[in-house]
Amino acid sequence: MPLDFRIETTSGKARAGRLITPHAEIETPVFMPVGTLASVKAIPQDTLEELGAQIILGNTYHLYLRPGVETVRRMGGLHGFMSWRRAILTDSGGFQVFSLNELRKVNEEGVTFRSHLDGSSHFFSPESAMEAQIGLGADIIMAFDECTEYPADRERIRSSMELTARWAARSKKHFEEHKHEVPWVTGAGKNHVGTAAVGCAGERQLAGAAELRSAGQPGAAVPTQSEQTQSLFGIVQGGMDRELRRESAERTIEIGFPGYAIGGLSVGEPRELTREIVESTLEHLPADKPRYLMGVGTPEEIVEYANLGVDMMDCVLPTRAARHGLLFTSEGKVSIKQARYAQDPNPLDPNCGCQVCQRYSRAYLRHLYASNEVLAQILNTIHNLSFYLDTMRRVRHSIRLGEECGFLTSVWSRPKP
Ligand SMILES: [Zn+2]
Repeated sequence: MPLDFRIETTSGKARAGRLITPHAEIETPVFMPVGTLASVKAIPQDTLEELGAQIILGNTYHLYLRPGVETVRRMGGLHGFMSWRRAILTDSGGFQVFSLNELRKVNEEGVTFRSHLDGSSHFFSPESAMEAQIGLGADIIMAFDECTEYPADRERIRSSMELTARWAARSKKHFEEHKHEVPWVTGAGKNHVGTAAVGCAGERQLAGAAELRSAGQPGAAVPTQSEQTQSLFGIVQGGMDRELRRESAERTIEIGFPGYAIGGLSVGEPRELTREIVESTLEHLPADKPRYLMGVGTPEEIVEYANLGVDMMDCVLPTRAARHGLLFTSEGKVSIKQARYAQDPNPLDPNCGCQVCQRYSRAYLRHLYASNEVLAQILNTIHNLSFYLDTMRRVRHSIRLGEECGFLTSVWSRPKP
């Protein structure tokens, strides 16, 4: 079994459960920090582990261009290359090709696009996107889809949704034929110095993982067995049209995947519409499979979507906002660049237990940011990720207690002082 998903408690529409992947056991609902280029920007892997990140994302488009799939594969896949023993999910490259490339050309076969690095021409198809993701070796990989632009008319949404359905079937066919080529099954990179070092670290972590598991801690690495393979998730498209979303869900379920994602949202539509489409699409997804909402959202949104029954979410917001001095706290947003914090001796968030809030003042964080110190990016990112991961921890706790997890929504909707 490449993937095992168990729902342990429900509260309303919300579900708390466990997703067991080849590299780690994950408590859901889960927030997945984004590590575009095999790096969650500004954060070393050991800090991610301390923060309790159970699974992180890699972006196939970026990794394909640099350092290249073959390099990563030879290093034992992303796990070996970046020395990360917990779970990883990669996107198919589709979304990035569509959002970053104005010069893309789409046909039935796939997408031709130009590299944003050097302008060179490349081609992605469902087959090549699978090949790239198998080489990168994440635990969970995504079908190649077309992210429909917003706004779009019904005819355009329909043809795009149908193309995604055909590409999903091709993605699955190629994956089934090649899934045993994943680097941690073939043993690629075993003789590498870097990967050997990972092995030692991994053994240490596996020893620790038993203790973590017995203490009920999430994210603990589980031993990789040779018969284990990746899991391919299908993606539901259909723009902002509820009927086409339903049809997309049905067609994707008919192909059959161990998990389903809702894609094509957060593309410029109003937030109420995002929520409406998420809620109506969830009704058509199988209750016993993990549901992944791609690319959302703010702290109050991730709570809201977990309440609606979403199990997995990712977003660049906490890391990207941190690098721009925008920090999320239990009392609302803080723009640390503001002069009002220049002599503020208080912690960033008095209710946050992260290492930054335990040690540093707002005045110091403001100074670091104003002086363009590298440490500003590191500390701000540690806090924001900690805030997101803690928020999800609290959501899971609320679901297990059978409570509505509205704590953040009420704080965040209050007018700013
Ligand atoms: Zn903090």
